[in-house]
Parts: sequence; C-alpha cells; structure tokens
Amino acid sequence: MTIIQQILFIIALATVSWLIAKRVKLIQRTIRLGKPENRTDHPQERLSIMLRVAFGQKKMMTNWTVGIMHFIIYVGFLIINIEVLEIILDGIFGTHRLFAPYLGAVYPFLINVFEVLAVGVLTVCVVFLCRRYLTRVGRFQPERHREMGRWPRLDATLILTLEILLMIAFLTWNASDSVLRERGVEHYAQASTGDFFVSQFLKPLFTNWDTTALIVYERFAWWFHILGILAFGLYVTYSKHLHIVLAFPNTYFSDLKPKGEMNNMPDITKEVQLALGVAQADPNEAPAEIGRFGAKDVFDLSWKSLMDAYSCTECGRCTAACPANITGKKLSPRKIMMDTRDRLEDIGRNMQAHNGTFEDDNKTLLNDYILVEEINACTTCQACVQECPVNINPLEIILQLRRYKVMEEAQAPAAWNAMFSNVENNMAPWKFSPGDRFNWADQVNQ
Ligand code: SF4
Ligand code: SF4
Repeated sequence: MTIIQQILFIIALATVSWLIAKRVKLIQRTIRLGKPENRTDHPQERLSIMLRVAFGQKKMMTNWTVGIMHFIIYVGFLIINIEVLEIILDGIFGTHRLFAPYLGAVYPFLINVFEVLAVGVLTVCVVFLCRRYLTRVGRFQPERHREMGRWPRLDATLILTLEILLMIAFLTWNASDSVLRERGVEHYAQASTGDFFVSQFLKPLFTNWDTTALIVYERFAWWFHILGILAFGLYVTYSKHLHIVLAFPNTYFSDLKPKGEMNNMPDITKEVQLALGVAQADPNEAPAEIGRFGAKDVFDLSWKSLMDAYSCTECGRCTAACPANITGKKLSPRKIMMDTRDRLEDIGRNMQAHNGTFEDDNKTLLNDYILVEEINACTTCQACVQECPVNINPLEIILQLRRYKVMEEAQAPAAWNAMFSNVENNMAPWKFSPGDRFNWADQVNQ
C-alpha cells in the first residue's frame, strides 16, 4: 500500500469517526430532553431481558423463517465486522493481512467463517428485497400504510443493497487477493494464507486478468468494502437501522411493570387518596408542584419514550397487530414512533442551528405530527407493546398525548365525558348508581 493511500485512509477514517461522534452526541442530547424516569432497578432482570430479546432475538422467532433470516444478517454483521479491525489496521500501517502471521492456522479458519456468513447475509438481503418488492408483504406497502412513504422505503432498500454490494466486494477482494498471492506479487505474497472456502470458487473470474488490472481491482474492492462500511456506520445514525445499536440499551431499560399496568400520575393519585380519606396528608411535606398533565410535545415524554423512537426498526409488527389499524382507523403505532423520531430530529436540527439551544418553532408533537384522531382510536389493548421485537412501548406515548388532550384541554369525545362522569359519580363506567348495582341479583332470586 502506498503512503498516499495510507494518508487518504487515515483522513477518511478520522472524518467519518468525527461525523459519527457528532451525530451520536446530538442523539444523546435529544433523548435527554425527555423527563427523568428511573429504569435502573432490578439490573439482573434487565440484563436477562436484554440477552433474550436483543442478543437472542427471542421475539423475532415467533416466525421462524423470518427470525432465522434476521439472525443470519445480525450474526453476519457482528462477526464479519471483526475483519474490519484488521482492514483498518492494514489501512493505517500499510500492511497486508496484518493478523495472518500472528493467528497462524486460525486465520484461514476465521476468514472461511466470515465468507460463509457473507454468503448467508447476501442471500438473506436478496430474499428481504424480494419480500418488499415482489411478494409485497402487507405491512411494508405505502398504499396501505401512509407512514411507509418514499424515505422509509428508500432507507430499507439502500441498506439492503449496500449490504449486498459490501458482501460481493468482500468475497471478490479475497478471490483477487488469492490470485495475486499465487503469482507471488510483492505485498500480497507476504501473507501465506492459502485459498479461502468460498472465494476460491470466484478465482476463475480473475485468473485471465493481467497483474496490473488485478491489483487495480483488488484495491478497488478493498477501498469499496472499507469505505462502504464507514459510510454504513455514519448512515445508520440517520436511519431506522440505528436499532442495530440501540436495541441493546432499549431492551435493558424495558418497562418491568406487569403488562397492562399503565403509568399513573403519582401526585394526582395522592390527591384522590386524600380526598377519599384512604391516605393521610404529611404536614411536613411541601405541596407538590404539578406540571403539565400528559404530553403535548416530546419534552413532556420520558427519556425512555424518546429512546424508543430512535430504536424503532419500522418493521410494522405493532401496526399489523393493532385492532384500530386493522379495522381501518387512522392509528398506526409504527407511525406514532416514526413521528416522535421526526419531531426529535427537527428539534435536533433546530438546536444545531441555534448554538445548542432549542428555539420555539411553533410546532408540537401533538397536532403537527400526530393527530387527535389517531390517538383517540387506541383501545389500549397493548398488542403493539406485546409484538415489538425491541420492547418499544407506543402506547405510553399515545396515553400521554391523550392525557394532555383530556386533562389540559378538556377535549375528550362526548362518549368519554359521559364515562368519566359515571366513574366520578357512580365509581363505575356505567350510569347506574352504586346502590342499584346488585338489582339484577334480586331478579334472579325471584
Ligand atoms: S394499544 Fe392502541 S396502538 Fe397499541 S395495538 Fe392496541 S389499539 Fe393499537
Ligand atoms: S414500534 Fe416496534 S413493532 Fe412497531 S415498527 Fe417499531 S420496532 Fe416494529
């Protein structure tokens, strides 16, 4: 490798690392805009959930075929990238297959494993593209789901295509490198690794090439592979593929409450308990400062809901299970998460443009991104929470927005108001007085 290539490589690596670090910092800052919430209790239980759901892909395995295909991409991505470490060191120091002399016979074994995984990843990416564009899996189609417009489709297609190209570059790079090694070309011959498991079958593609053309292709494949991976690393921070990283903390900080238990408002609960005489007021306690009820914008949501938004894979499993969506209502839990992330992204850009401070843009998550019609269609059935492969809770955001609409703006549908009034007066959603509640039993005895 020439010194010019080394310098170019170091510049590319430093630039991408700086851009990624800048982007990560901005994402962290926007997540921290959320309200505090303690999710550090029961660390062992949390670790176990993370290992099962994120590492073990437990929820993906409800559909074995798709689950295994996703697992191949995930394992392939994690393991093949060990090779990236060697490529980066080769790029910096101008070496060729730096680890080969140190690892001995283990080295070809490792590359063989990477190559088999590369074929697996390549095949699965092709199948996933076919599922989107040929068999047209329902939950990805924009005709049925308006949130799956141009950008989400392009995002998924770009990543799948890039992964296919990266795997092709990896395999053909190994094949052209093998031929150069066989010819004893200086720089390549220093690593005596022999042929590799898959790329040996690609060698006939290159055996008739003259050495100069072969070196040009080998360099092209090497640069394409590493620049593609660096670009992938940066692109991921702007895309739904951020879940590759965030799935782990997001599952660790999962909601540990029993399913169906909603977050109430402790201060209001206390007020009610005092009013009913089931709790005693502490005379030394300072009166609670009650802020806004529910959420109008992302600032009113907890940091975990904001992390949920960045962790969403846009898979649509929540929407496919949502009874409101299935019956044609405007609500889509996937859209709730995508809208929340869009709002966070707009706020992040706003902060960048104003030296790190958010300047009011006269927009709010509720109304400008998510409509009242959407949140009011939710039955709170929890199907979306149950289905999500990375333990996201779209219902929590819906409930907070709805709580704001009802409690701050007193704008609930008329039928709900009647129900609220019954709960208040009759201690049940029905219009009967509590004293009449067992009248039906009298009639049974007659
Ligand atoms: S809780 Fe609401 S959003 Fe979630 S699946 Fe049920 S109806 Fe849909
Ligand atoms: S919330 Fe979960 S289930 Fe719904 S689209 Fe996002 S990742 Fe998929």
